[in-house]
Amino acid sequence: MTTIELVKGDITRQSVDAIVNAANSSLLGGGGVDGAIHRRGGPEILAECRKLRASHYGKGLATGQAVATTAGRLDARWVIHTVGPVFSGSEDRSDLLASCYRESLRVADELGARTVAFPAVSAGIYGWPMEDAARIAIGTVRGTETAVAEVRFVLFDEQAYDAFAAQAG
Ligand code: ADP
Repeated sequence: MTTIELVKGDITRQSVDAIVNAANSSLLGGGGVDGAIHRRGGPEILAECRKLRASHYGKGLATGQAVATTAGRLDARWVIHTVGPVFSGSEDRSDLLASCYRESLRVADELGARTVAFPAVSAGIYGWPMEDAARIAIGTVRGTETAVAEVRFVLFDEQAYDAFAAQAG
């Protein structure tokens, strides 16, 4: 049984086994959560991302997939990088967003992580409407079989927190 917790705050400050990064397919850093994780976690994370690019992910990490690295100086042991879809008003990309949560939990299980913190993937620079992002996030975690005991959604502002709280019931 996985417990879902909601907190308002900064994901880089969480003491959990793994934090999930809303990365982009280059794995080489960006804005939003991605920038915050690399700033606070230090250069070790980027160094490992570069190695992944040079070995298995020459073309980058595909949308909806997930891969783990060290968490550098963060409290967490691992960062799980996942690439959310850019929101589209003309094409339904919900399955790709759901895949981010499923794949991140699969990687967490492989690592043996028991506590995992997620941001609202795709709901920042990638433009996904927060209510729908929250519905997909919570619905997917609830519907995924995993040994992860606690999933903590870390919401950066009141609006995000309220949207997730409404979905969590
Ligand atoms: P994406 O490119 O997938 O949209 P972003 O990082 O731009 O990812 O945003 C995803 C969500 O994370 C947004 O709701 C944003 O406000 C939030 N966010 C930004 N920085 C942090 C942080 N340090 N901790 C938690 N959430 C954050």
